[in-house]
Amino acid sequence: MRRLPVFFVLDCSESMVGEPIDSVQEGVELILSGLRKDPYALETVYISIIAYAGIVRTLVPLTELFAFNHFSFPLGGGTHLGKALDHLGQEIDRYVLKTTTEVKGDWKPMVYIFTDGRPTDEYEQAIQRWNMQYANKATVVAIGLGADVDFSILKKITENTISIDQITPEYVKGLCKWITASVVSQSISVGSNQQKNDLLPLDERYMRLAKDALSISKNKVDENCATFVGRCQKMGKPYIIKYTKNLQYKSPADLNINIYNFKLNTCSVISEEYFTWSDHQAPNKQINTAELDGFPECPHCFAETAFAVCGCGNLMCYDGYRESVVCPWCRRQISFSSGGGDFDLTRGQG
Ligand SMILES: [Zn+2]
Ligand SMILES: [Zn+2]
Repeated sequence: MRRLPVFFVLDCSESMVGEPIDSVQEGVELILSGLRKDPYALETVYISIIAYAGIVRTLVPLTELFAFNHFSFPLGGGTHLGKALDHLGQEIDRYVLKTTTEVKGDWKPMVYIFTDGRPTDEYEQAIQRWNMQYANKATVVAIGLGADVDFSILKKITENTISIDQITPEYVKGLCKWITASVVSQSISVGSNQQKNDLLPLDERYMRLAKDALSISKNKVDENCATFVGRCQKMGKPYIIKYTKNLQYKSPADLNINIYNFKLNTCSVISEEYFTWSDHQAPNKQINTAELDGFPECPHCFAETAFAVCGCGNLMCYDGYRESVVCPWCRRQISFSSGGGDFDLTRGQG
């Protein structure tokens, strides 16, 4: 039996926290359950899931559909797309069976790469390596989620670059239905021994082919979102706070003085695993708290603010009552004075 390998390469960077990552998790499960209902897919499709943030790991190695177990997405700092491509190439070398004079190997793999931002690693050489060694060995579809994607980079990997405007359950569902239909159509075409390479028509309510011109700033940190990691002072457990860029004041068209700030989007519990998925070498960027709009409570102990800062530079929660507490990061005894103006803070890599 010749297998049809399908690789999902998923961006689990911290800017995905909240609704985006939940939507993608649900979306992938929708694809799996859709494929399981199809007799052609059930017979030929093998799926692998690779996650990347500051590091890259295979979450699920190539597995037949009925044997697939539940998995959950990690979250980490950084968007190492270059390393993800290198890893994908190694996985293809290791697990996809090649055709030889004696045996027919697997069908040409399909690869779906998801990202919501721009890479934070040295991706250019990795893209070159991919194009030289693997581009003709797989059919790649790159999917840019939301408004912060640098499509000029994705376009260097594949012409099949798709944009979806919003990372909401509705849009991701629309996308995942299309992916399911694409994989089913491939499994039917390999069933008749004629593998096709062209894309199915896109559902234009949710997605479109990306154009080169859609490219954002060259900054290495995701500019349209700011994230911060903190720890609960009482329980020591980590959380992540995400702010998204927000147009505060729009000037008349002839004056170019729009004013932006960062609005609170979510404050979510994360696991200690976050730190193992993060790139600790990345340069950090500062942001002034005056640019931030809205301060969350602690998602662990519900203390009044999750935005208290220790002298060590790390964030913790604070209930506003006790004068002196122990920093969950550096273990020093610290006391908070009331008030205090705005200050600069180190933000995550997105
Ligand atoms: Zn707390
Ligand atoms: Zn500290």
